[in-house]
Amino acid sequence: MNNEFFVNLVYIVSSILFASGLKFLGSPLTARKGNFLSALGMLLAIVATLFSGHLISFQWIILGIVIGTALGAFVAVRAAMTQMPEMIALLHGCGALASVFVDWTAYHVHGAHDLTGAITLYLSIVIGGLTFTGSVIAWGKLSERIPGKPLLFAGQRIVNLGLIISIVVLGIMFLMNPARYDLFLIILGLSLLFGIFLVIPIGGADMPVVISVLNSYSGVVACTTGFVIHNTLLIVVGALVGANGIILSIIMCKAMNRSITNVLFGAFGAVVKKKADGEKKDAKAVSLEDAFLILENAKSAVIVPGYGLAVAQAQHAVRELGELLEKNGCDVKYAIHPVAGRMPGHMNVLLAEANIPYEQLYEMDSINPLMETVDVCMIIGANDVVNPASRHDQSSPIYGMPIINADKAKTVFVLKRSMNTGFAGIENELFYYDNTRMIFGDAKQTVQGLVAEFKNAAK
Ligand code: NDP
Repeated sequence: MNNEFFVNLVYIVSSILFASGLKFLGSPLTARKGNFLSALGMLLAIVATLFSGHLISFQWIILGIVIGTALGAFVAVRAAMTQMPEMIALLHGCGALASVFVDWTAYHVHGAHDLTGAITLYLSIVIGGLTFTGSVIAWGKLSERIPGKPLLFAGQRIVNLGLIISIVVLGIMFLMNPARYDLFLIILGLSLLFGIFLVIPIGGADMPVVISVLNSYSGVVACTTGFVIHNTLLIVVGALVGANGIILSIIMCKAMNRSITNVLFGAFGAVVKKKADGEKKDAKAVSLEDAFLILENAKSAVIVPGYGLAVAQAQHAVRELGELLEKNGCDVKYAIHPVAGRMPGHMNVLLAEANIPYEQLYEMDSINPLMETVDVCMIIGANDVVNPASRHDQSSPIYGMPIINADKAKTVFVLKRSMNTGFAGIENELFYYDNTRMIFGDAKQTVQGLVAEFKNAAK
């Protein structure tokens, strides 16, 4: 068996492993298996590439693997579950940067010989450059190192338009004369700059779409890099990630009731309003004991988890409370909003970790028609995804975003620490509704308190 045949064979096996990995990632029950299969595919791909016979020396590669593995393991072990979204944003950025370096090296060593080569190289550095800096900005916003709300300045549209036109015009000049290294570097620089300007005006509730779009771009750039260095597996994997990211972006856009162009360019000039309109009533707080009495008599309860549940790590306590409620004759359902938390599928992962039965999880469209019949809706660490302003307040930044209609339940409990806003930075009028009662405190402690009340009552 010659070397090339062997390498291609392994690439096919890897591609199958990646595709099945993605398939298994479609359900929380099989997600671990999917992750393992994809990692195995990647390991095979790396080993086959190293032994493909194209490499002259190994020392730099070994150094890269050692540094990369040590850094990756260090960061992954230290990252708390709540830091996963920002870590994912950073990983997209690292993938894009790696592709840019590969493209740059290929250009430096071999140049671009024909138009097709120059086009793929051009696309690669433009998408790779903007994905890298865009992802770094997204990481900054998600980790709150820079303000999460849209950052706007006068003339922003003109600057962006100027950047796009420059990248296109210089690109045409580069395609006409691919030997011009100076153009290559200027296009790369402008693309890096464009990534920053593309993401800084986006913020608040639009961030999930940005993350999935950047995810898609990181796949596309891997794919174009595959064309640049003639690596079939990179083309396949890049296409898989790119397509996967596009599907996710569409799902996220539907969840937010926005179009991709609206998210990417709509925030230019937007003004974020912080206060809810209308006369301000006082939010009513309730004690644990009183909340328990209402829950004890409830025949149906819907639990709406949000980012605060992840912060508090209350998932195990929530499962225990759910079980006690069921034992008490209450029908318990969990309502999952597609953008709850800080990454796609965040709440599913969290609840699956606590072994909450998958059949009890309801998507927004399935739970909303039932909300009016629900005795108690418990909102645990969620805020933006239950804000009724999205239904009627046209000036709200989240106007039009479908929400879980928690307010329709007979009684609404909101478990959070204060009256603070959520990620979108806007006040929630639900907290002031007549049927809403606030239970202030850390979500885990509050839920544990309710669990204790149930256990005491059973003694
Ligand atoms: P929000 O960010 O709207 O609200 C979370 C709430 O949790 C806060 O109001 C906070 O209030 C409360 N909280 C924080 N810590 C605790 C704690 N220890 N105990 C109890 N409560 C706590 O979360 P949602 O899940 O409702 O909405 C997600 C938001 O994030 C949306 O705007 C979405 O667009 C955005 N987003 C989503 C992404 C995704 O892919 N899912 C990615 C990026 C952004 P307090 O401080 O008073 O306790």
